[in-house]
Order: sequence, then C-alpha cells, then structure tokens
Amino acid sequence: MKRIPMLIDGEWIGDDSHEWMPIFNPSNGTQIAEIVKGNQSHVDAAVAAAQIAFESDEWKKVKTFERGQLLVSFASYIRENAEQWSEWECEDVGKPMSQARSDVEAAARYFEFYGGAADKVMGETIPIEEGILNATVLEPLGVTAHIIPWNYPLQIISRSVAAAIATGNAVIVKSAEDTPLTAHAIAEWFAASDLPKGIFQHITGLGVDVGGPLSAHPDIDHVTFTGSVNTGIAVMKAAANNVVSVTLELGGKSPNIVFADASEEKALEGVVKAIIQNAGQTCSAGSRLLIEESYKEHFLCRLVEKFSELTIGPGNEDKDIGPILNKRQYDQIMNRIEEAKKSGEIVVGGKAVSIAGAEDGLYIEPTIIDGLSPSCPVAQEEIFGPVLSVFTFKDTEEAIQLANGTDYGLVTGIWTQNIDVAHYVASKVKSGQVFINNYGAAGGIQMPFGGYKKSGIGREKGFVALRNYTQIKNIAVKFGV
Ligand code: NAD
Repeated sequence: MKRIPMLIDGEWIGDDSHEWMPIFNPSNGTQIAEIVKGNQSHVDAAVAAAQIAFESDEWKKVKTFERGQLLVSFASYIRENAEQWSEWECEDVGKPMSQARSDVEAAARYFEFYGGAADKVMGETIPIEEGILNATVLEPLGVTAHIIPWNYPLQIISRSVAAAIATGNAVIVKSAEDTPLTAHAIAEWFAASDLPKGIFQHITGLGVDVGGPLSAHPDIDHVTFTGSVNTGIAVMKAAANNVVSVTLELGGKSPNIVFADASEEKALEGVVKAIIQNAGQTCSAGSRLLIEESYKEHFLCRLVEKFSELTIGPGNEDKDIGPILNKRQYDQIMNRIEEAKKSGEIVVGGKAVSIAGAEDGLYIEPTIIDGLSPSCPVAQEEIFGPVLSVFTFKDTEEAIQLANGTDYGLVTGIWTQNIDVAHYVASKVKSGQVFINNYGAAGGIQMPFGGYKKSGIGREKGFVALRNYTQIKNIAVKFGV
C-alpha cells in the first residue's frame, strides 16, 4: 500500500504514530494509497516553516529569473514523465486517460507560463510633480494557502502554486482528501529541488481538521480555494477574521445558449463535451442547455443520438465518461435525477451503470432532463455529474434572462452565426468567461478565469492571477539640490 506522507519543513511526516486515511481508485473501488489524517498541529508547523522560509535570505536571494527557470524546469520534468503523471491522475480521480493527459499538459503549461512571467511582474512609475519620483513595487504576500478540490487536482494545484511561487511567495497545499497522488508527486519534486525547505509544503487530511485551521490561521497571508460555495463562504469568513485576502472559485451552473442558426455539428460537439468532461464533475461544466424554441425538437433529437453513442467505463479504458468520484457524490447526483423525475422528464440516461470487472466503481449514464421549471433546485444548483437540463427561449432577451437566472456566473457558451446577436448576448451575460462558437478553448491557461456572483471572487489563470499573490508598495522619493 502506497503511504503518502505530508511534506512539512522539508521533512516527510507520516509514520505509525499517525492516523491514516484510505484512498480509492473511483474506477473500481480498490484502495490505492493512504494519507496522513493531519490536524491543527501540522497546520501550525507548516505555517511556521513557511514564514521562516519566506523571510530567509536564502529565498530572498533567489533572483526572479531563477525562480522562473525553476518553474520551467518543473514543467519539462512533468512533460518528460507525462504518461506516469496521467496514470496517477487517472487512478486517483477516475478520469479517462486522454482527459488525464490533457490535465498533465495543462499543468506543465501553468508552470511554463508563470515561470516565464516570474521576471516580468512589474510596478509602474507615476508622474506626480517636479522633484518627486513615485514608483510602485509589487511585493509577494508571504505565506499562501492553496485548498484544492478533488476534480482536477493536478491542474488546480499547478495554476495557483505556479503563480504564487513565480511572485516569490511560500505555498502550503492542502490537497483534497480523496485525491492526493499528484500533489504528493509535486511535493517530491520540490523537496528534491534547490528551493529552501518550507517554500513548498503539502499537508493532507479532512477539510474540517486541516483546511479549516489553515484558512483561519493568523499567519497566513492569502487563501486560494476551489470547491463548493458553502465551504468557500466558511473559508472567506475564517480569512476575514485575520483581514486576509481570498481567491475563491466556487463552481457554476453554466449555460450553453444555442440559437437556431448555430453551426449544428459544432454546437452539438460543444454541448456534449461541456457536460461529459470528467463525468460532469467540472466547475465549468455546461450543465444547462438553453435552446431557441423553434430549433428545440430537431437539436434535442440529435443531442439524444449523440448521448446514446457515448461510452462509459474505467479511466484506464479511456471511454468518453469515467466513474463518479465516490458514493457521496454519486448519491447526490442520483438524488437530483430522482428529484427531476417528479417535475420533468428524463429524455435519455438517468440510470446507474454497472461495468463488468469494475463493479465497485460508480457510473451514471449521461442524462438529459427536459421540462423543468428554471427556478427549481435541480435547475438552479450544481449537480456535478453528467446531467444536462434543457430549457427553451423564444427570443434573445429571454435567453439572456435564463442565462443570468441562477446564483452562479462562471462560463457561458453562445452558439450562433449572427455576430450581432453573439456580441450582444456576450455583453449582457453575468459570466466570468464567455465562449462564442466554442467552449473552453485550448485549456485557457492564459485566459482570466473566475466567476460573477456566487461563482467566486477574483480571477485565476493568465497574467491577472499574478496580482493575487502580490501587494503594492508605493515609494515616493523627493529629490533636489
Ligand atoms: P468542498 O468545498 O467541501 O471541498 C473542497 C476542498 O476544501 C477540499 O480540499 C476539502 O478538504 C476542503 N475543505 C472542506 N471543508 C473545509 C473547511 N471548513 N475549511 C477549509 N477547507 C475545507 O467540496 P466537496 O465536499 O469535495 O464537494 C462538494 C460539492 O462541491 C460538489 O458536489 C460540487 O458541487 C462542489 N465542488 C466544486 C468544485 C469546483 O471546481 N468549483 C470542486 C469540487 C467540488
């Protein structure tokens, strides 16, 4: 059994005196590893070590371009071992291998992107008056906490950790209790690197035992969190007590808006992929289809055909749809489907699937629900499974109203050949990202990502995320003879 210790202050923490928690492969339910059940004392030790590392001369003397080179060399290491990293992610999360491979490439891209940016994070000079030189300096915040969900562990660690280290911070990663494998592999690489110990640390355990104490710790300088709205609110409240900034990415109920003049094949492909990727366990999943009324019957019919052709199976068999993470998530999805049956109609799917040879894996058919009221809970709340709800609109204004009609605002897809309509809708939707005639282009490493409304606070990805991990010092110099 693979034992995954924590990395605290350069030491591997985890022996028989610790409590251990099992980790399962969602594809077949077999135990693959165990993690240390961390607690407040581990959080305290990690924060203290991070503070020392951050203030150390050893770290301050690392030039910005050297930080960048280190991150870029990690990107190369990930690429050289891409198949191994993909297998870990596939085993841990259950995702199909080709999706795991995309995640690994995205992780490498984050380290490369932010590595390249490390020596380009600049302040500005601001004209004031003769005899005053006024400049801003962007300084690192200090100790940054990164609380990670289970659905895209490698990508989500990479996007925030790379930006935080590029800007000179110390990082503490708290991986999700179900999916620690790639977090540990990252920890192994950093432990063997030339970085001062304490600049990268990895702690494990339950949210309540480790994530809570970490976000409430008075010596943390920033918390980056991805996960559910309720936990995000708890993290924000905990950080608020210490007047500490947060970046929150809390999911969505993202619509694909399909007009009757859409390029049909592209729209079909986009709508399908947006909901089945990672079995719908994706913050930016396109979980609502808003379709122009006159086009509904035809488009839905074609969509049902596409859904019926999708394959389901264990991650390593690389089917279209892999398993659901665990029983709790599975029950939540099946309960939502049952609830939907009371007021709507299951057009396709809706049932559990048993896979021969992987009977302990939890699989759900890709599902389309029609006829729900847009205001009912199933239509409003994240289901986090391969479940698409369909609604119709008569005109553009109604499409916009429906698109904006939830508490979320993460991503919107717009499918039309009419450039006026596309731009008009893009300007009206309350959504952090808008995709016109595509959805989730190119992994989006360079594109700011984050939500309006309860989808979160702040933006990750792209140059803009570097600002999450810096603060501005303004220096005014008076001179003259
Ligand atoms: P969660 O928000 O509870 O967990 C996410 C991370 O936060 C995990 O590392 C967890 O250990 C940690 N955590 C839990 N409680 C904490 C606390 N009080 N303080 C600090 N950290 C804490 O999510 P979940 O329970 O794994 O999933 C539940 C639902 O959340 C899903 O069904 C889905 O709707 C949503 N979710 C969204 C995303 C996303 O990408 N936005 C990711 C995962 C889950």
